[in-house]
Amino acid sequence: MKDTVKKMLIERGVKIEDIAKLVYFLQSKYYAITLEECISSVNRVLEKREVQNAILTGIALDILAEEDKLDEPLLSILKRDEPLYGIDEIMALSITNIYGSIGLTNFGYLDKVKIGVLKSLNVKGPQVHTFLDDLVAGIAAAASARIAHSKSG
Ligand code: MG
Repeated sequence: MKDTVKKMLIERGVKIEDIAKLVYFLQSKYYAITLEECISSVNRVLEKREVQNAILTGIALDILAEEDKLDEPLLSILKRDEPLYGIDEIMALSITNIYGSIGLTNFGYLDKVKIGVLKSLNVKGPQVHTFLDDLVAGIAAAASARIAHSKSG
């Protein structure tokens, strides 16, 4: 299952290293960490069943929208990535919630700054990344919270 989810992310243009770089961006201000540590934290987050379920569901919906295989009005909402839709963020919260309020704070911050791979996912093109951008921010936020908990505990 973990390998399936990793493969799906890669096929949608997101490498584990891309997510780890977001973690590094968030945590290197506070702790002496390496990109390797960030990569392993991302991998640990991807082992959680709740995380895998969110990724499977979100990416499936992105692909269905891309292939025009959803009914209206959902199809247009997802294709336009309407800001008031909000279910994409809610789905990402099922990832960040695992690590408590630090995860939530990190997610909110990443959603604002949109750096690295999040920036490229937000460029409008033929691909639909309505769910993927929030999933990636959610995974990075959770992996950051894991590091914060382990360094302070
Ligand atoms: Mg989104």
